[in-house]
Amino acid sequence: MGYYVEPGQYYESAEAKRRMRNLVDACGLLELLVTDVRDGGVVRRAATRQELEAVHAPAYVERVAAASGKGGGDAGDCAFYGPGSFAIAALAAGCAIGAVDAVAEGRVDNAYVLCRPPGHHATREMGMGFCVFNSVAVAAKHARTRLRMGRVAVVDYDVHHGNGTEEAFYGDPGVLVVSVHEDSLYPLGTGKVEDRGEGAGEGYNVNVPLPPGSGVGAYTEAFDRIVHPLLDAFEPEIILVSSGFDASALDPLGHMMLPSGWFGEAAARLAARGVGVVFVHEGGYSEVAAPFCGLRVLEAMAGVPKSNVVDVMEGEIRAYGYQETQAHQRAVIDRVEREIEEVKGLMRSRAAA
Ligand SMILES: [Zn+2]
Repeated sequence: MGYYVEPGQYYESAEAKRRMRNLVDACGLLELLVTDVRDGGVVRRAATRQELEAVHAPAYVERVAAASGKGGGDAGDCAFYGPGSFAIAALAAGCAIGAVDAVAEGRVDNAYVLCRPPGHHATREMGMGFCVFNSVAVAAKHARTRLRMGRVAVVDYDVHHGNGTEEAFYGDPGVLVVSVHEDSLYPLGTGKVEDRGEGAGEGYNVNVPLPPGSGVGAYTEAFDRIVHPLLDAFEPEIILVSSGFDASALDPLGHMMLPSGWFGEAAARLAARGVGVVFVHEGGYSEVAAPFCGLRVLEAMAGVPKSNVVDVMEGEIRAYGYQETQAHQRAVIDRVEREIEEVKGLMRSRAAA
């Protein structure tokens, strides 16, 4: 980050993920979850080249594989990786596929894939923003082609726009992609309301670019008025969630104001829809906050009573000023709500037919 910045831990590191896993373990929740293939649960494996190439250009996959064998590189724009990273990124995508299979076959009701690197920025031709392979997109393609699902929904609440996932399904009405993100953060220039998909997929890509400073009010309203009504109309056979915790008030790379408890509420509502949900870990760079966000999601998904774990920042963040929806935030939601009116009707008539 420049000559005068004293080096520290890189934002995208294993630390927040390691702490989330350990918190889930320490509070006893891990014992209640199906965690292993031996439980008849989720199969952990690497994605094959063919599965990766359903989303990424073969030349790009090969480029990552070759550089990974030689010491690493940059997959594109700010997606640095070290030796051996091809195997790790392929494992992240493969675990997302394994989770989709486990949910589709009814072995588990829902699943959380705690993996890295994240994936939702990775496009067909290159990695971006810490993302090498787009795990959610690879898993959604698997659901569409191998499992022959006609309707797959992707809900992305990572604070950054899921541009790679948008690109992968821009023309596909079989995959509804809804991204709620901070307006004009990363990547710059993507994630606009008017980017609605193309051809047969027009209307099936929905962006909700919330202004920086949005909190519990705006996020809850975006889910009440945009995300859930779309899911009601689309009736997906499975929901994949790009689960980034960087809209947390404490995140160093986002400028939103969510407490950890909000993520639990969002997960509870998604899990209560009566269709399988697969959460795939994306961003979340506060080592302090992200583990609590993850714990709240897992508690909600598992449907167990909330653990005794207290996030001491929860009350403080909820008491911050401007947590309720502000007029300029509501104006964005109003606009998106008008944009989706027509496609909701289209979805309903398609479902009826
Ligand atoms: Zn992010």
